Amino acid sequence: MAKSSPSFTFHESWEEKRERAVKIVRKLMEMYPRRSMGEILQGDPYFTLIRCIISQRTKDETTDRASEVLFRRYPTMESLANARVEEIQRLLKENGVGLWKTKGRWIVETSRILLEQYDGKVPDTLEELVKLPGIGRKCANIVLAYGFGYQAIPVDTHVNRISKRLGLAPPRVPPEKVEEYLSELIPENLWIYVNHAMVDHGKRICRPIGPKCEMCPLRELCPYAKGLVRDEEIRRG
Ligand code: SF4
Repeated sequence: MAKSSPSFTFHESWEEKRERAVKIVRKLMEMYPRRSMGEILQGDPYFTLIRCIISQRTKDETTDRASEVLFRRYPTMESLANARVEEIQRLLKENGVGLWKTKGRWIVETSRILLEQYDGKVPDTLEELVKLPGIGRKCANIVLAYGFGYQAIPVDTHVNRISKRLGLAPPRVPPEKVEEYLSELIPENLWIYVNHAMVDHGKRICRPIGPKCEMCPLRELCPYAKGLVRDEEIRRG
């Protein structure tokens, strides 16, 4: 991993960057506290996995509504595995979910595979999860963190952008590299808080357009606020 690019290090050593990363995460945890595992988990691993398929390129409110309707009508893995793909696609479409055709197929196929090949249990490793239809690295990490409560760092659009503005990952790298940098910089016992806190921060203060740096408690720790990182340099996905 390249750790010496000047635009990435801002002349700080790797150790200094690590110290800064820990301060940032602790500050974010103060700003957006999760007091118990119950506030971190989204639901059981299967619900979390299906919700993550629905959530791709979809607003949270739409994902919440569609997931609720889906699980009210199909409350078990068996019921979704036995459902007609067209029915699931129609339900997703009626509830405003984009890419409903593909997602409907993924939901039914994934449920069938879990029943037939995994004894009805969601696997709890990244390697196995990414073999399932519709599950990429981000969703796999979401299932590990918010379904199982394991230490994992899902890198979504907020984590990608904010990590780069904060100089915790180089501006041009893809999300899987951002995950690697964060995993090296942040102690493992804090990983599960990173996504939650950066998503909250990204919605309230460090927005995609027009971040509110003047009111941000991280500004003293942030190279973007000092003009050292610019949005034009940042690779979004
Ligand atoms: S100072 Fe600005 S860029 Fe840095 S984390 Fe805060 S809002 Fe985002």
